[in-house]
Amino acid sequence: MTSPLEAHIRNIPDFPIPGIQFKDITTLLRNGAAMHQAIDVFVERYRSMHIDAVVAIESRGFIFGAPLAYALGIGLVPVRKVGKLPADTYQVEYALEYGTATLEIHKDAFKPGARVVVIDDLLATGGTIAAACELVERAGGVVVESAFLIELAFLGGREKLANRAIYTQITY
Ligand code: AMP
Repeated sequence: MTSPLEAHIRNIPDFPIPGIQFKDITTLLRNGAAMHQAIDVFVERYRSMHIDAVVAIESRGFIFGAPLAYALGIGLVPVRKVGKLPADTYQVEYALEYGTATLEIHKDAFKPGARVVVIDDLLATGGTIAAACELVERAGGVVVESAFLIELAFLGGREKLANRAIYTQITY
């Protein structure tokens, strides 16, 4: 099952490198009704799950995480690329298709046992979200669910995260 929001996602072949079908969300973001609906679907899902914080992954996760946290009346915690967060951090390095990347979270991001939703725009291989969930747990949080606007199911991210709850609005 997928969403009417799929009509607002633009596919850009061979970006940023040959062979990648890039899912461009800017065509959804610029449409007020579509953006509103995308956020509202997340808000309705998490409103009754007793969530303490939204953890948003730099940078497109911020676009969805901030309005979700605002609507739920809870705080936003950023997971950022290495070198951006100013206080003490935990770091996790993870594999990309070529090379590695490192993400960070502030050590004092939340109270022990805080129930969090981790959000990003798109689930591909699952490496990014696996690293973000590990950071949340090292900082003492509990990942209730990971949420995405888009899932590229053919890349197998959901299988890689088989022990974790995943929610996505649009599946390719
Ligand atoms: P992954 O760690 O493989 O799950 O990759 C997820 C991250 O890469 C997300 O933050 C996405 O924004 C980005 N990403 C990966 N593949 C695509 C794609 N085909 N179109 C748009 N963004 C992508």
